[in-house]
Amino acid sequence: MKVLKFGGTSVANQDNIKKVKQIVVRESGGAKIIVVVSALGGVTDLLLEAANKAANQDENYKEILFSIEQRHINTVKGLIPVTSQSKVLSYVKRELNSLETLLEGAFLIGEITPRLSDKIVSYGELLSSYIISEFFIAEQLDCIYKDTRTLIKTNEHFGKALVDFKITNSNCENYFGTVSYNIVVVPGFVASSHTGNSTTLGRGGSDYTAAIIAGAINAQVLEIWTDVSGMYTANPTLVKQAFAIPKISYEEAMELSHFGAKVLYPPTIQPVLSRQIPIHIKNTFAPDQSGTLIQKSTDAKARPVRGISHIENIALLSLEGSGMVGISGISKRLFEVISLARINVILITQASSEHSICIGITKDQTARAESAINDEFEYEISTGKIEPVIIEENLAIIALVGDNMKSHQGLSGRMFSTLGKNNVNIRAIAQGASERNISAVINSNDVKKALNSLHEEFFEENIKQLNLFVVGVGNVGARFLSQINQQKKYLKEKLKLNVRVVALSNSRKMIFNEGGLNLNKWEEELQKGEEANLQSFFNKVKQLNLRNSIFVDNTANEEVAKTYELYLKNSISIVTCNKIASSSDYDNYLHLKNLSREYNAPFLFETNVGAGLPIIDTLKNLIASGDKINKIQAVLSGSLNFVFNNFNDKNPFDKVVKQAQDEGYTEPDPKIDLSGVDVMRKILILARESGYEIDIDEIENESFLPQESLETKSVEDFYKSLTENKSHFDNLYKEAASNDCRLKYVAQFENGKAKVGLQQIPKDHPFYNLEGKDNIVLFYTDRYTDQPLIIKGAGAGADVTASGIFADIIRIGNF
Ligand code: ADP
Ligand code: ASP
Ligand code: MG
Repeated sequence: MKVLKFGGTSVANQDNIKKVKQIVVRESGGAKIIVVVSALGGVTDLLLEAANKAANQDENYKEILFSIEQRHINTVKGLIPVTSQSKVLSYVKRELNSLETLLEGAFLIGEITPRLSDKIVSYGELLSSYIISEFFIAEQLDCIYKDTRTLIKTNEHFGKALVDFKITNSNCENYFGTVSYNIVVVPGFVASSHTGNSTTLGRGGSDYTAAIIAGAINAQVLEIWTDVSGMYTANPTLVKQAFAIPKISYEEAMELSHFGAKVLYPPTIQPVLSRQIPIHIKNTFAPDQSGTLIQKSTDAKARPVRGISHIENIALLSLEGSGMVGISGISKRLFEVISLARINVILITQASSEHSICIGITKDQTARAESAINDEFEYEISTGKIEPVIIEENLAIIALVGDNMKSHQGLSGRMFSTLGKNNVNIRAIAQGASERNISAVINSNDVKKALNSLHEEFFEENIKQLNLFVVGVGNVGARFLSQINQQKKYLKEKLKLNVRVVALSNSRKMIFNEGGLNLNKWEEELQKGEEANLQSFFNKVKQLNLRNSIFVDNTANEEVAKTYELYLKNSISIVTCNKIASSSDYDNYLHLKNLSREYNAPFLFETNVGAGLPIIDTLKNLIASGDKINKIQAVLSGSLNFVFNNFNDKNPFDKVVKQAQDEGYTEPDPKIDLSGVDVMRKILILARESGYEIDIDEIENESFLPQESLETKSVEDFYKSLTENKSHFDNLYKEAASNDCRLKYVAQFENGKAKVGLQQIPKDHPFYNLEGKDNIVLFYTDRYTDQPLIIKGAGAGADVTASGIFADIIRIGNF
């Protein structure tokens, strides 16, 4: 014999019930089948809502009742041929009338007892099972209906009654052992007490009904047909990448369901466990998929972590106090009082100092637990030995589950560091002695992020999702987006990085898409976006709370740089080509670096110096490997290099500067480049990254510009002064040429001091042949003493800057 259970969605309407029939026919092939059904999807909730409304004397219960009636009547009409409809319809209407009478009763007295509630709610399964059995009969199946209230006997703990297995097992054996029909359809969830009252087995209890029957008759298999293709590695509605677990042990399945995997009602395993009846979870809507097989043995080679589950609406109660230390019996009293108050304890932790005990319970039991505990310890509280119980709400439990976890070291380390990196605060931790489960209590609003990051860590073959929040879509930003778009597939396949741009903003508009923006048409979308605002941008990033979030700043804007702190404090990494933060005062630079360390969020700005050239990264690697930077010499300005490479006795200085500006190599105000401020910032950043505490006003800047040019107030005046001082510039050139040198604007750092300025570079110097807008950096270190480490190449331009930002993002991906 096989027992097949069909859940609420599987029997939600006539089309689904037709699918159920096909499955039953296919599965019956010779074996007798017991079909356990839930109420039509959503009906149990509606019945409870109607009951509550009636008890609150809210007339709207009638509307709900009406919709329940319509659903059942329509289902009958859709399934049963007109010729045999009247009998079924009149039965259904009679039942609905009795239901109406019960609800009216509740309405009149303005109250509902647990007993009446169970009676009302049982109509869901009673009606669905009757209709389905009549449909099967009409379809010529050899089928009979049986009311489980005559088989399953319970106590009168209404809402979640306890089964009397002795009598239930014998009832089931007697009935199913003698029934001559091939198919018996029964209602799940409902049972009755010894005095004949209807009881129910707890929400989701139809699974349990099926397991009770399967256990009693020693069925060959218990099949749970539902709306997903098995028990998944995590709740598939929250974790898109979750997948069905092909095989799992009873203990693992029990643990996962206890910790929230709703697909199986937790007590379901117990009745089939001793007889080792396999449970097969299958999808009514994809019956060919293999589903999940729950059975005894597990595969010793299986992954250590089999699934991740979670329970929402958790509260933590902590009992603390100096009076607890060393006194035996406190925990005994605590758990006794909790058990007497019928409170289900989900998680327990006790610090080894015995100074506090902490228990996790569901939120709806908090008030009861609080008063029970405070009453029990009234004396100790009044004498100050124990504090009144402390309650924290809005929490959730997440649990890693797997039989093979015990033989693997370091899993909890991986779990907590994954959560830590994503700024998920852990309130309490518990690990069962069986080591089949490690659970952590976290804030409710972190659940989705925590599940997804843990899933990524333990199940996704190291594919890591990076979520980018990009501000600035000008030259560099636009190139960056197009590079990401082009490399997406490569990154996923080769580097196992799934890079998604979740938000974009320019100074006017901003857009968000939690699933990732379409980078083929971001321009159009951005135009339709909401009004840009840096604070709301941050708020939205925080609210989305996605794992591996990275804020990418492609601007040169000071206001944007001021927001870095907010991101870092929320463990959101930063990648930026904006130099403002890293060249601001040393205290601010240090503060951001410290936040980055404290919150485990990288703060990378490789493109601040030499665009895409790996200058800062090389510097960091040198230092990390124990080297020391003694001297830096560098040509760091693409624009100044362009100017001095083209300026000679035929090409006057002012014309070359104009040309550089026209070709986009200078800032709109070329004085910023020519005065050396930009180069000062760059050498400042290199000195700081080399480990020196230094501020911009400590950098010596011998300007090659005449004082008069420096003092000009407008671009026009600036050019005028360049023209007027032609001879000054010509002299600079002539002097260098007569020494066989070329002019280069050099930044230097040595003995803790930095300076920038124009230098005459002799032929044998590495700077002499520097072309176009290239940059070059020489690092003299303890290891590179005579011959410096040289990095040279294109140091400006949107494409190379964008690829430098890209490289920083990949560094974070591999972090
Ligand atoms: P039924 O009505 O068939 O009993 P349920 O709604 O009780 O179905 O359970 C199935 C649902 O359980 C799925 O639709 C899914 O949303 C949820 N669920 C939560 N965790 C898991 C998990 N780990 N694996 C599969 N489903 C899960
Ligand atoms: N109908 C009941 C519920 O919704 C039992 C079940 O479907 O398993 O809780
Ligand atoms: Mg269910």
